[in-house]
Amino acid sequence: MPPSLRSALYRFHWTLRSRAARFGFLQALALAEESQRWPRERLEALRDRKLRELVAHFHANSPYYRVLMERHRVTPSEIRGIADIGKLPILTKAMIREHAPALRARGFPDSQVEFGITGGTTGNPMRVTRDLPGTVWQRACYWRGFGWGGLRLGDTWFQLFGGALGLSSRRTKDRLKNWFSGKHFLPAFELQGHNTEQYIEAIRASGARHLVGYASSCFILARHLESTGRTLPLEAVFPTAELIPDSWFDTMRRAFGAKVLPYYGCGEVQSLGYTCPDSETPVYHTCDEHAVIEVEEGDGRTSLEGEGAFLLTDLDNAAMPLIRYRNGDAGAIAGPGCACGRTLGRILRLDGRVNDVLLTADGEMISGAIGAHAFKMVAHVHQFQIVQREPGHACIRIVTVPGYDAPAEEDKLRRIFKSHLGENARVEIEYPPEIAATVAGKARLVINEYLEGAGAASAPAGKPG
Ligand SMILES: [Zn+2]
Repeated sequence: MPPSLRSALYRFHWTLRSRAARFGFLQALALAEESQRWPRERLEALRDRKLRELVAHFHANSPYYRVLMERHRVTPSEIRGIADIGKLPILTKAMIREHAPALRARGFPDSQVEFGITGGTTGNPMRVTRDLPGTVWQRACYWRGFGWGGLRLGDTWFQLFGGALGLSSRRTKDRLKNWFSGKHFLPAFELQGHNTEQYIEAIRASGARHLVGYASSCFILARHLESTGRTLPLEAVFPTAELIPDSWFDTMRRAFGAKVLPYYGCGEVQSLGYTCPDSETPVYHTCDEHAVIEVEEGDGRTSLEGEGAFLLTDLDNAAMPLIRYRNGDAGAIAGPGCACGRTLGRILRLDGRVNDVLLTADGEMISGAIGAHAFKMVAHVHQFQIVQREPGHACIRIVTVPGYDAPAEEDKLRRIFKSHLGENARVEIEYPPEIAATVAGKARLVINEYLEGAGAASAPAGKPG
């Protein structure tokens, strides 16, 4: 089937789905395209109304949220809008984990919600429930953000994310869905020196003009292109999930001749920030129609501008309150004020989510995001960290909780790391009592002491083209 026909069919399928729903994805996307430039007061009014209705709804329908509000001595009538959000209780991961069934709102049967499991690094993962309007809005924000880099629904695009780590096979249904939506997928963690060429040729052959994936994976491709004196012209690259050193930006821009537009989301609230395509300095625009970000400053005060640990509010999910939820990320936020004319707020800086790259025994780079991915498969872990001291080495540091099965889990971890770092890789496993955290309470997941020692952590050897 020619790509243009597939793309037209895919868009038509969304038209039908949106027509069938009372308020569908295409309507939400069209509205989000408009509302990014609404006068700020109009946007604020929308946010105020959503928060007001949501709090009243959860007070009436979420048994545990009602208890929390009563404990906090706050009633729904006191929440008139975002300005009053500080009166509401803060939700922690522990609270969600322990009280998920009582947090879930009445009137949302399983058939009408989606489930997301996050926090897989703990023995007791967090189960988040999301209703369909919540999903529609987050998806609309996602596609609006990609649209800023020229990627439209139905276009051919390329995605480099986790993959199966060789432990399970991908389902045919997913492959069919990917093809229909124009999405081409390759597993990020299989990307290594010996197959980098194949990845590059697969992207070239797909005709994709847009690449979405782990920052480290996009960077590894870019660096390989540069070191062989070539380019792979794209329109935009959307790296995510990790902080990006300045030198990586430059390498990606040169190798792909593309805009580099990182985006930020989390498993619980999803769409949170997309890079402004028009700003001189890198800045994320927040999805103000969908989510509120507050920061907790050092003295415990919270604010809609400033820096500190993030508190996230999902304004659309009526199935489970994610209101003032401390997700473990941190950064600096500000209100609107971008020269591009969009009236959305801004994330000026993101902290946390630090992943270095790892080097295989042959000295090839692989994405450090493999650490988080591997630990999704290990139960009863409170914290973990990967430290690399030389190529082909990994020291895996684990803080466990009761129930941890050392022989079985160690065997699994060794297999995963050896299959990616090389059969002769040296994999050590340590059990420290704790792992030092960053300001946001999130440990640095991957530390490459070898590269840091060589003074190259943020500037791995790569010849400018
Ligand atoms: Zn802007």
